[in-house]
This record gives sequence, C-alpha cells and structure tokens, in this order.
Amino acid sequence: MLQDMEEKAEKLVIIGSGPAGLTAAIYGCRADLEPLVFMGTKYGGQLMLTSEVENFPGFPDPVLGPDLIERMKSQAERLGTRLVQEDVAKVDFRRYPFEIYTGSGVTRALSVIIATGANPRRLNLDSEMKLMGKGVSNCAVCDGFFFRGKKVAVVGGGDTAMEEATFLSKFASSVQVIHRRSELRASAALRKEAFANPKISFIWDSAVVDVIGAGKVQGVRMRNLKTSKESELQVDGVFVAIGYDPNTEVFRGQVELDSQGYVAVRNGTESSVPGVFVAGDVHDFRYRQAITAAADGCKALLDAEKFVKHRLEVKAVS
Ligand code: NAP
Repeated sequence: MLQDMEEKAEKLVIIGSGPAGLTAAIYGCRADLEPLVFMGTKYGGQLMLTSEVENFPGFPDPVLGPDLIERMKSQAERLGTRLVQEDVAKVDFRRYPFEIYTGSGVTRALSVIIATGANPRRLNLDSEMKLMGKGVSNCAVCDGFFFRGKKVAVVGGGDTAMEEATFLSKFASSVQVIHRRSELRASAALRKEAFANPKISFIWDSAVVDVIGAGKVQGVRMRNLKTSKESELQVDGVFVAIGYDPNTEVFRGQVELDSQGYVAVRNGTESSVPGVFVAGDVHDFRYRQAITAAADGCKALLDAEKFVKHRLEVKAVS
C-alpha cells in the first residue's frame, strides 16, 4: 500500500513562487524531478510589489519586479514545470509520502520545498500602498540607490530599521528615523552606529498617519503619540522597516519554527523533517534579496534531488 502510494506520488512539490520557488522549479526540471509548484493565489512574492530592479545580474537595464517573475515563470514552464495558482491550506508531514492539501484535493509528494517567503509588515495606510514603489519601499538595499542626495524617512525602531537607516545614509542627504516610542528595540551595536551617524536623526513617540504625494512621495504626516499633535515632514522616500511576518502558519506543528516563526534550518536547507527542504525569506531574515532567495532555491533543489534519488534507490532494492 505504502509502496503503491509512493509510486503515485509527485517526486517534488514546491510551495511558493517567488525567486526561491521558481529557481527550485527550473533546477528541478533539469534534475528530472518533474516539479509541481503551488504558486499561491497571489503568486510571485515581494517582487510583484517592486518597481524597477537594478541589481539582479543579467539585466543591464532595469527590469520591473513583476516582469522578472514572469520571465522566471516562463523559463520554469518551458522546462516542464506544472504551475498551479492555488493556496496550500494544510500539510501533513507526519505521513509519507507527504500530504499537501489545496482547494482541489490532496497531493502526495516524495519531497517538498517550502518557499513561501515573508511579508513585510505594513503601516496599513491607503497612501502607503498607493505610493509603494513610488517612494515608499521596504528594502533599502534594493531602492536606496534611487535616493542619492535626497531626504528619506525610515519608520521603525528595530534592527532592520537601524540597518536600513545606516545603509541609506550612504546615499541620502538626510535620514529621519520615525519611531513610535522613545527607546529603540534595536541591538546595542546597531543603535550605537546609528546614533553616531551625523546624517541620521530621530523623531520619537511618533506614528506616521499618512504618506503625502500624488504619483510620488513628497512627505509624511506624523502624530505625536504623547501630545496627539500632528505635523508634516518633507521627504522624498519612506522606508517602512517595522518587521516581517514569515508565511509559515500552514507549517506550524509540522516543521520546527524558530521563536520569530521562521522555519528552522539545519545542514544547508534541511527542515526538521527529512525530505522537507526550505528556501528563501521563509527562513532567511538576514539577507532577504531576490538573488539570495534564488540561490537558496537552487541549493534546496540539490538537497531534494539527493533525497529523492536515495529514496527511489531504496525502493528499487526492496
Ligand atoms: P522587530 O525587531 O520586530 O522590530 C520592529 C520595529 O518596528 C519595532 O521597533 C516596533 O516598535 C516597530 N513597529 C512594529 N509595528 C509597528 C507599527 N505598526 N507602526 C510603527 N512601528 C511599528 O523587527 P526587525 O527589526 O525586522 O527584526 C526582526 C528580527 O530579525 C529580530 O530578531 C532582529 O534582531 C533580527 N535582525 C537582525 C539583524 C542583525 O543582526 N544584523 C538585522 C535585521 C534583523 P516597538 O519597538 O515599539 O515594538
């Protein structure tokens, strides 16, 4: 019975369709794993919300984030990937073959790559979403270059906010950190570095209540949370750095997660369950780049390939 199920199972299911998932699919086709990708109903990940990408190798001219994803999708499809635009509702990694549940039923798989990414937290302002990619950004490394000689604001008081502020100070004429309390959450080292930087200044106890601008960012409206007084700050860019939420709800109780909810990874790309591998921002809160996610997808695939090959050899012997 188990043997029968293994014979009918997919060799590889990839969950997620950002650069990590699609790179794993491209490599998976070439390794004859015939990958099936559950892309999610909102496929493509964070690149779908990015305008110009200037730092992905192979594109001498800037490429739009959604176009980059379309190109990766086409490449994966041309090589034979099956792409399904469905969300995964549930997984059962305690059974083998693994079970993956979507709206259209259950799929069984000999190996799985989790590449569901992480979503940057939002201020939940309409103006923030309208001006996303037009001066509002979640990634200084991606977009800082466009703010040479300009004034920018960074929202948040954690490690990411301090790193973003310090990075942006290389390009921007000034960096205003807007934080909702009067104390930073960031680690001592990053705090110290930001405080010592002459281009960085701090606006405490304040929340951004609106991003101002038609077509591009012209400033922010802030509310002092102690006095309720509102004021405006003229800036050309707003970097929202208030943390990330990894997309791991569906894996809770199935693979080990760390204290922040990211999938815990060991020995390359292995999760706590042999045969379930991990790629991209769903485990990597440090680098979070399209290119590092893509590289991770390749690594996860090479690990999955080895696992499946071994599994098939064991089955052939028995
Ligand atoms: P974080 O530690 O959760 O910090 C988020 C910051 O944003 C906090 O200051 C928080 O304010 C603020 N915030 C949250 N929601 C907000 C909202 N709705 N409006 C305004 N402000 C809001 O997130 P993170 O900085 O991305 O770091 C995540 C994890 O990655 C941490 O464990 C961090 O140490 C790690 N990390 C490490 C490094 C490094 O070691 N180099 C770099 C980046 C990240 P409060 O302080 O008031 O809660």
